[in-house]
Amino acid sequence: MNPLPPTVQCHILDTGYCLAWEHHLIQGGQRRQVACHSVAALLCHPRHGWLLWDTGYAPRMLDVTQHFPFSLYRRATPLHLDPALSVVAQLDRWQLQPGDIQHIMISHFHADHIAGLRDFPEATFIASEAAYTHVAARRGLRALRRAFIPALLPDNFTSRATLLPPFRDQPLPALGAAHDLFGDGSLLLAALPGHAHGQIGLLAHTERGRILFAADGCWLRRSIYERRPPSHLTNLVVDDTRAVRTTINRLHDFAKACSDVIIVPSHCPDAFAQEVEAVHD
Ligand SMILES: [Zn+2]
Ligand SMILES: [Zn+2]
Repeated sequence: MNPLPPTVQCHILDTGYCLAWEHHLIQGGQRRQVACHSVAALLCHPRHGWLLWDTGYAPRMLDVTQHFPFSLYRRATPLHLDPALSVVAQLDRWQLQPGDIQHIMISHFHADHIAGLRDFPEATFIASEAAYTHVAARRGLRALRRAFIPALLPDNFTSRATLLPPFRDQPLPALGAAHDLFGDGSLLLAALPGHAHGQIGLLAHTERGRILFAADGCWLRRSIYERRPPSHLTNLVVDDTRAVRTTINRLHDFAKACSDVIIVPSHCPDAFAQEVEAVHD
Protein backbone atom coordinates (compact mmCIF):
# COMPACT_ATOMS: atom_id res chain seq x y z
CA MET A 1 0.00 0.00 0.00
CA ASN A 2 1.26 3.49 -0.85
CA PRO A 3 2.02 5.68 2.16
CA LEU A 4 -0.28 8.67 2.65
CA PRO A 5 1.02 11.69 0.78
CA PRO A 6 2.43 14.50 2.92
CA THR A 7 0.12 17.48 3.29
CA VAL A 8 1.01 20.99 2.18
CA GLN A 9 0.14 24.24 3.86
CA CYS A 10 -2.20 26.20 1.59
CA HIS A 11 -3.25 29.84 1.50
CA ILE A 12 -5.57 31.01 -1.26
CA LEU A 13 -4.99 34.65 -2.15
CA ASP A 14 -7.01 37.32 -3.92
CA THR A 15 -4.97 39.34 -6.44
CA GLY A 16 -7.67 41.69 -7.76
CA TYR A 17 -10.66 41.39 -10.06
CA CYS A 18 -12.38 42.38 -13.25
CA LEU A 19 -16.10 42.64 -13.91
CA ALA A 20 -17.80 40.11 -16.17
CA TRP A 21 -21.36 39.28 -17.18
CA GLU A 22 -22.71 36.21 -15.44
CA HIS A 23 -24.61 35.09 -18.56
CA HIS A 24 -21.29 34.99 -20.43
CA LEU A 25 -19.61 32.93 -17.72
CA ILE A 26 -22.27 30.21 -17.67
CA GLN A 27 -25.16 29.26 -19.94
CA GLY A 28 -28.42 30.37 -18.31
CA GLY A 29 -26.61 32.87 -16.07
CA GLN A 30 -28.26 36.17 -15.12
CA ARG A 31 -27.70 39.42 -16.95
CA ARG A 32 -25.74 40.96 -14.14
CA GLN A 33 -22.13 41.87 -13.65
CA VAL A 34 -20.09 39.84 -11.21
CA ALA A 35 -16.62 40.41 -9.80
CA CYS A 36 -14.24 37.80 -11.14
CA HIS A 37 -11.26 37.74 -8.84
CA SER A 38 -8.09 36.04 -9.93
CA VAL A 39 -6.81 33.79 -7.16
CA ALA A 40 -3.37 32.36 -6.61
CA ALA A 41 -2.31 29.80 -4.01
CA LEU A 42 0.69 29.98 -1.73
CA LEU A 43 1.72 26.46 -0.76
CA CYS A 44 4.38 25.08 1.55
CA HIS A 45 5.62 21.54 1.05
CA PRO A 46 7.30 20.01 4.13
CA ARG A 47 10.45 19.07 2.16
CA HIS A 48 10.45 21.29 -0.92
CA GLY A 49 9.49 24.59 0.68
CA TRP A 50 7.30 27.39 -0.62
CA LEU A 51 5.70 27.41 -4.02
CA LEU A 52 2.92 29.16 -5.88
CA TRP A 53 0.02 28.02 -8.00
CA ASP A 54 -0.24 30.87 -10.56
CA THR A 55 0.44 34.47 -9.62
CA GLY A 56 -2.79 36.19 -10.66
CA TYR A 57 -2.79 39.91 -11.30
CA ALA A 58 -0.07 42.37 -10.39
CA PRO A 59 0.09 46.16 -10.87
CA ARG A 60 2.32 45.78 -13.96
CA MET A 61 -0.85 44.61 -15.78
CA LEU A 62 -1.66 48.31 -16.03
CA ASP A 63 1.73 49.18 -17.56
CA VAL A 64 1.72 46.41 -20.13
CA THR A 65 -1.82 47.17 -21.27
CA GLN A 66 -1.26 50.89 -21.85
CA HIS A 67 -0.66 50.67 -25.58
CA PHE A 68 -2.35 49.09 -28.57
CA PRO A 69 -2.99 46.24 -29.10
CA PHE A 70 -2.82 45.20 -25.44
CA SER A 71 -4.93 48.20 -24.42
CA LEU A 72 -7.81 46.19 -25.94
CA TYR A 73 -7.35 43.61 -23.18
CA ARG A 74 -8.00 46.24 -20.53
CA ARG A 75 -11.00 47.54 -22.42
CA ALA A 76 -12.49 44.04 -22.64
CA THR A 77 -11.89 43.27 -18.96
CA PRO A 78 -11.75 46.48 -16.89
CA LEU A 79 -9.27 45.76 -14.12
CA HIS A 80 -9.64 46.58 -10.44
CA LEU A 81 -6.17 46.15 -9.05
CA ASP A 82 -4.57 47.14 -5.79
CA PRO A 83 -0.78 46.96 -5.34
CA ALA A 84 -1.38 45.52 -1.86
CA LEU A 85 -3.05 42.48 -3.48
CA SER A 86 -0.14 41.37 -5.65
CA VAL A 87 1.18 38.05 -4.34
CA VAL A 88 4.61 39.56 -3.69
CA ALA A 89 3.05 42.27 -1.50
CA GLN A 90 1.12 39.66 0.47
CA LEU A 91 4.18 37.54 1.36
CA ASP A 92 4.77 39.74 4.42
CA ARG A 93 1.80 38.08 6.08
CA TRP A 94 3.93 34.94 6.40
CA GLN A 95 7.24 36.78 6.90
CA LEU A 96 8.39 35.61 3.48
CA GLN A 97 10.65 37.26 0.91
CA PRO A 98 10.29 36.79 -2.86
CA GLY A 99 13.45 34.63 -2.79
CA ASP A 100 11.71 32.16 -0.48
CA ILE A 101 9.43 31.05 -3.34
CA GLN A 102 11.15 28.03 -4.90
CA HIS A 103 8.75 27.13 -7.70
CA ILE A 104 5.77 28.62 -9.53
CA MET A 105 3.31 26.30 -11.24
CA ILE A 106 1.59 27.99 -14.17
CA SER A 107 -1.90 26.77 -15.09
CA HIS A 108 -1.81 28.53 -18.48
CA PHE A 109 -0.31 31.66 -19.98
CA HIS A 110 -3.27 34.06 -19.89
CA ALA A 111 -2.22 37.43 -18.53
CA ASP A 112 -4.44 37.24 -15.43
CA HIS A 113 -2.46 34.19 -14.26
CA ILE A 114 1.12 35.20 -15.01
CA ALA A 115 1.24 38.94 -14.25
CA GLY A 116 3.26 38.39 -11.06
CA LEU A 117 5.97 36.09 -12.49
CA ARG A 118 8.56 38.87 -12.71
CA ASP A 119 8.27 39.48 -8.96
CA PHE A 120 10.05 36.18 -8.23
CA PRO A 121 13.47 36.31 -9.89
CA GLU A 122 14.75 33.17 -8.15
CA ALA A 123 11.82 30.83 -8.65
CA THR A 124 11.76 28.08 -11.22
CA PHE A 125 8.65 27.65 -13.36
CA ILE A 126 6.59 24.54 -14.01
CA ALA A 127 4.18 24.53 -16.94
CA SER A 128 2.97 22.22 -19.66
CA GLU A 129 5.11 22.24 -22.74
CA ALA A 130 1.97 22.35 -24.88
CA ALA A 131 0.76 25.54 -23.16
CA TYR A 132 4.09 27.30 -23.51
CA THR A 133 4.89 26.37 -27.10
CA HIS A 134 1.40 27.46 -28.15
CA VAL A 135 2.03 31.07 -27.08
CA ALA A 136 5.80 31.49 -26.95
CA ALA A 137 6.37 32.94 -30.42
CA ARG A 138 3.23 35.08 -30.50
CA ARG A 139 3.50 38.85 -30.54
CA GLY A 140 1.05 41.74 -30.96
CA LEU A 141 -2.47 40.81 -32.01
CA ARG A 142 -1.60 37.12 -32.38
CA ALA A 143 -0.59 37.10 -28.71
CA LEU A 144 -3.57 39.18 -27.63
CA ARG A 145 -5.95 36.71 -29.32
CA ARG A 146 -4.63 34.16 -26.83
CA ALA A 147 -4.84 36.64 -23.90
CA PHE A 148 -1.05 36.40 -23.76
CA ILE A 149 1.04 39.50 -23.05
CA PRO A 150 4.67 38.63 -23.86
CA ALA A 151 6.10 41.42 -21.64
CA LEU A 152 4.81 39.60 -18.55
CA LEU A 153 7.19 36.67 -19.05
CA PRO A 154 10.63 37.07 -17.45
CA ASP A 155 13.36 37.38 -20.11
CA ASN A 156 15.09 34.23 -18.84
CA PHE A 157 11.85 32.25 -18.65
CA THR A 158 12.97 29.25 -20.69
CA SER A 159 16.20 28.75 -18.75
CA ARG A 160 14.21 28.68 -15.49
CA ALA A 161 11.29 26.59 -16.71
CA THR A 162 10.54 22.89 -16.55
CA LEU A 163 8.18 22.27 -19.44
CA LEU A 164 6.23 19.08 -18.92
CA PRO A 165 5.41 16.62 -21.71
CA PRO A 166 1.98 14.88 -21.66
CA PHE A 167 1.38 13.43 -18.20
CA ARG A 168 1.99 9.72 -17.55
CA ASP A 169 1.67 9.17 -13.80
CA GLN A 170 -1.12 7.38 -11.93
CA PRO A 171 -4.48 8.56 -13.37
CA LEU A 172 -6.97 10.64 -11.40
CA PRO A 173 -10.66 9.67 -11.51
CA ALA A 174 -12.13 10.99 -14.81
CA LEU A 175 -9.21 13.39 -15.38
CA GLY A 176 -6.70 10.95 -16.87
CA ALA A 177 -2.99 10.65 -16.20
CA ALA A 178 -1.51 13.01 -13.64
CA HIS A 179 1.97 14.41 -13.11
CA ASP A 180 3.14 13.78 -9.57
CA LEU A 181 5.26 16.89 -9.02
CA PHE A 182 7.43 15.67 -6.16
CA GLY A 183 6.78 11.93 -6.55
CA ASP A 184 5.05 11.75 -3.16
CA GLY A 185 1.41 12.31 -4.18
CA SER A 186 1.15 15.70 -2.45
CA LEU A 187 0.80 17.80 -5.61
CA LEU A 188 -0.75 16.21 -8.69
CA LEU A 189 -1.08 18.11 -11.95
CA ALA A 190 -3.86 17.18 -14.39
CA ALA A 191 -4.58 18.22 -17.97
CA LEU A 192 -7.62 20.51 -18.34
CA PRO A 193 -7.58 21.40 -22.04
CA GLY A 194 -10.10 23.59 -23.86
CA HIS A 195 -10.07 27.06 -22.35
CA ALA A 196 -6.38 27.42 -23.20
CA HIS A 197 -4.13 25.05 -25.11
CA GLY A 198 -2.29 22.77 -22.68
CA GLN A 199 -4.01 24.18 -19.58
CA ILE A 200 -3.38 22.24 -16.36
CA GLY A 201 -5.03 22.00 -12.94
CA LEU A 202 -3.60 21.03 -9.55
CA LEU A 203 -4.90 18.56 -6.98
CA ALA A 204 -3.21 19.48 -3.72
CA HIS A 205 -3.25 17.43 -0.50
CA THR A 206 -3.48 20.27 1.96
CA GLU A 207 -3.90 20.61 5.69
CA ARG A 208 -7.51 21.63 4.94
CA GLY A 209 -8.17 18.52 2.85
CA ARG A 210 -7.85 17.96 -0.87
CA ILE A 211 -8.24 21.00 -3.09
CA LEU A 212 -8.49 20.91 -6.87
CA PHE A 213 -7.33 24.16 -8.41
CA ALA A 214 -9.26 24.00 -11.67
CA ALA A 215 -7.75 27.14 -13.25
CA ASP A 216 -10.12 28.31 -16.03
CA GLY A 217 -11.48 24.80 -16.65
CA CYS A 218 -14.69 26.66 -15.92
CA TRP A 219 -15.35 30.16 -14.60
CA LEU A 220 -18.04 29.25 -12.09
CA ARG A 221 -17.90 26.01 -10.14
CA ARG A 222 -21.64 25.65 -10.69
CA SER A 223 -20.62 24.79 -14.26
CA ILE A 224 -19.10 21.59 -12.94
CA TYR A 225 -21.91 20.51 -10.62
CA GLU A 226 -24.62 21.38 -13.19
CA ARG A 227 -22.57 20.42 -16.28
CA ARG A 228 -23.30 23.84 -17.69
CA PRO A 229 -20.57 25.31 -19.92
CA PRO A 230 -19.92 29.01 -20.55
CA SER A 231 -22.02 30.93 -23.07
CA HIS A 232 -21.30 30.49 -26.78
CA LEU A 233 -20.40 34.18 -26.73
CA THR A 234 -17.12 33.20 -25.09
CA ASN A 235 -16.19 30.79 -27.91
CA LEU A 236 -14.09 33.51 -29.50
CA VAL A 237 -11.71 33.65 -26.57
CA VAL A 238 -11.28 29.94 -25.90
CA ASP A 239 -8.84 27.58 -27.58
CA ASP A 240 -11.13 24.59 -28.27
CA THR A 241 -14.84 24.78 -27.45
CA ARG A 242 -15.42 21.03 -27.70
CA ALA A 243 -12.58 20.40 -25.26
CA VAL A 244 -14.08 23.00 -22.88
CA ARG A 245 -17.22 20.83 -22.66
CA THR A 246 -15.25 17.60 -22.33
CA THR A 247 -13.19 19.09 -19.52
CA ILE A 248 -16.33 20.28 -17.69
CA ASN A 249 -17.87 16.81 -18.03
CA ARG A 250 -14.68 15.23 -16.71
CA LEU A 251 -14.58 17.66 -13.78
CA HIS A 252 -18.22 16.76 -13.09
CA ASP A 253 -17.36 13.05 -12.97
CA PHE A 254 -14.27 13.77 -10.88
CA ALA A 255 -16.35 15.79 -8.38
CA LYS A 256 -18.82 12.90 -8.09
CA ALA A 257 -16.07 10.33 -7.56
CA CYS A 258 -14.16 12.52 -5.08
CA SER A 259 -16.84 14.37 -3.14
CA ASP A 260 -14.36 15.36 -0.42
CA VAL A 261 -12.39 17.55 -2.83
CA ILE A 262 -12.93 21.32 -2.69
CA ILE A 263 -12.91 22.67 -6.25
CA VAL A 264 -11.46 26.13 -6.74
CA PRO A 265 -11.63 27.60 -10.25
CA SER A 266 -9.45 30.71 -10.50
CA HIS A 267 -12.28 33.22 -10.93
CA CYS A 268 -15.41 31.71 -9.35
CA PRO A 269 -17.15 34.20 -7.00
CA ASP A 270 -18.58 31.38 -4.82
CA ALA A 271 -15.21 29.70 -4.39
CA PHE A 272 -13.72 33.13 -3.74
CA ALA A 273 -16.25 33.90 -1.00
CA GLN A 274 -15.65 30.57 0.72
CA GLU A 275 -11.98 29.83 0.29
CA VAL A 276 -9.95 33.03 0.00
CA GLU A 277 -8.12 34.48 2.96
CA ALA A 278 -8.78 38.21 3.07
CA VAL A 279 -5.77 40.51 3.37
CA HIS A 280 -7.30 42.33 6.32
CA ASP A 281 -8.44 39.48 8.54
ZN1 LIG B 1 -7.60 31.91 -18.88
ZN1 LIG C 1 -8.16 33.44 -16.04
